Amino acid sequence: MGGGEARRGVGANFIGGAWVEPLAGRYFENRNPARRDDLIGVWPRSDAADVEAAVESAGRGFEIWRSTPAPARGDVIRRAGDLLAKRKEEIAAIATREMGKTLVETRGDVQEGIDTAYYAASEGRRLFGRTVPSELPNKWAMSFRRPIGVCGLITPFNFPLAIPTWKAFPALVCGNSVILKPAEDVPHTASVFVEILLEAGLPPEVIQLVHGFGEEVGAALVAHPRIPVISFTGSSETGRAIAEIGGRLYKRVSLEMGGKNAQIVLPDARLDLALDGVLWGAFGTTGQRCTATSRLLLHEDIEEEFVSRLVERAGRLRLGDGMNPQTDVGPLINSAALEKVERYVDLAHTEGEVVCGGRRACDGELAHGFFFEPTVVRGVAAGARIATEEIFGPVLSVMTFADFAEAVRINNEVRYGLSSSVYTRDAEIAFRAANELETGITYVNAPTIGAEAHLPFGGLKDTGNGHREGGWEVYDFYTETKVAYVDYSGRLQRAQIDNY
Ligand code: NAD
Repeated sequence: MGGGEARRGVGANFIGGAWVEPLAGRYFENRNPARRDDLIGVWPRSDAADVEAAVESAGRGFEIWRSTPAPARGDVIRRAGDLLAKRKEEIAAIATREMGKTLVETRGDVQEGIDTAYYAASEGRRLFGRTVPSELPNKWAMSFRRPIGVCGLITPFNFPLAIPTWKAFPALVCGNSVILKPAEDVPHTASVFVEILLEAGLPPEVIQLVHGFGEEVGAALVAHPRIPVISFTGSSETGRAIAEIGGRLYKRVSLEMGGKNAQIVLPDARLDLALDGVLWGAFGTTGQRCTATSRLLLHEDIEEEFVSRLVERAGRLRLGDGMNPQTDVGPLINSAALEKVERYVDLAHTEGEVVCGGRRACDGELAHGFFFEPTVVRGVAAGARIATEEIFGPVLSVMTFADFAEAVRINNEVRYGLSSSVYTRDAEIAFRAANELETGITYVNAPTIGAEAHLPFGGLKDTGNGHREGGWEVYDFYTETKVAYVDYSGRLQRAQIDNY
């Protein structure tokens, strides 16, 4: 089962350079959401004492790692990328078994980790600073990057491999040490990830893995005074709590949170393409992506035809175990997620017309997992709760607009601002969309999901707090900028005074 298993079926923390049991000896179960009788194993239900041990070790790891040259740090990450590539199928199967999405998608999840590794590895030979002219003669002025210290990384369940890599690889290339707290639904994938980093040659105390619950392990990381950096991906509610505590402690906190993403379809669009896009955007990963399409904004002239084709296609999607190559849509992650979707669909009957799905799927094998039918709700008003709150399940609200300006208004009305998409063949509309939609990402003629590892990723409003993951920008988050002035004139030179 991976994770330096001490006994069969029992996962472990990685702290102090060794796979260890939780200090209090408590464990939690990890079960397959597609078949609840499949017990994957038990993992440590750690607490603040385990976090304390992890911080001690990570402090030692930081001293070793910060003085390792950045290109050499990058070489370790490159080898981790090679190992991920070698074990791609195996990791995809582990991830599908513990979080439910289809193998096609978990392979993509691992590939994103590989891409992130190779990008981060090359950054080890850049990590640019700047040299600029000084205003005084015989004086140099330059900036460069320094690592910060121990980084606490708190990750969600829906990208069990990719999101830990988005955070850990840049943090490590920049010379920081890391404590990873993965979501409690996906401990196995996280354990394999740490095994791979160790096999790639990362000095053991540079990485710590502490399994457990958010209110216990996550909260202890956020409150710990010797963890200056917290990178969190998860719900906006949890992110707010983290920001409040982190703010009081002057921590550097990156928050990647919820979304309520819209696909806008204009009458001139290629409708087949728009249909493929919304099916993938809304029901891929069972709607459990931060970038999932949860609103479909249709021009009023095409609504009738588009919805009838959408309902026909959505109704044909095959629910099932993600391990089965025939499956289009896997289960929800757990019973709380299923109940949340059920509550919103109850509401949908009063806020619109449920024209597809709308029920828990219980036929045959499906009765053993957390399955919910792909659901389409038509005639929803822009301000309705199902059209503004994040459901995080396979529920799509359909709305209409009369012109593009109205579509922009509806798109921008929600508290979130992660992703948006527009289908049109009109270049003016395409560029207006990129400019006017208040989201961190806009896709033209592509669904709301599909970010690439080498571009910045993140959102506005209640989706984020201004930082970005991925691409070149994340390296600013994991480094402190230091400036050095070197005066070789041999005399006192007073800036702003002697030269004016
Ligand atoms: P969640 O907020 O419940 O949990 C995320 C992580 O935070 C988990 O590891 C959890 O244990 C931990 N946590 C929970 N309470 C905590 C606390 N009080 N202190 C510290 N840590 C705590 O989210 P989830 O259900 O795992 O994931 C779904 C959410 O994540 C959705 O809202 C989704 O939109 C969001 N998400 C955002 C992005 C993005 O990049 N913007 C990507 C993926 C998921």
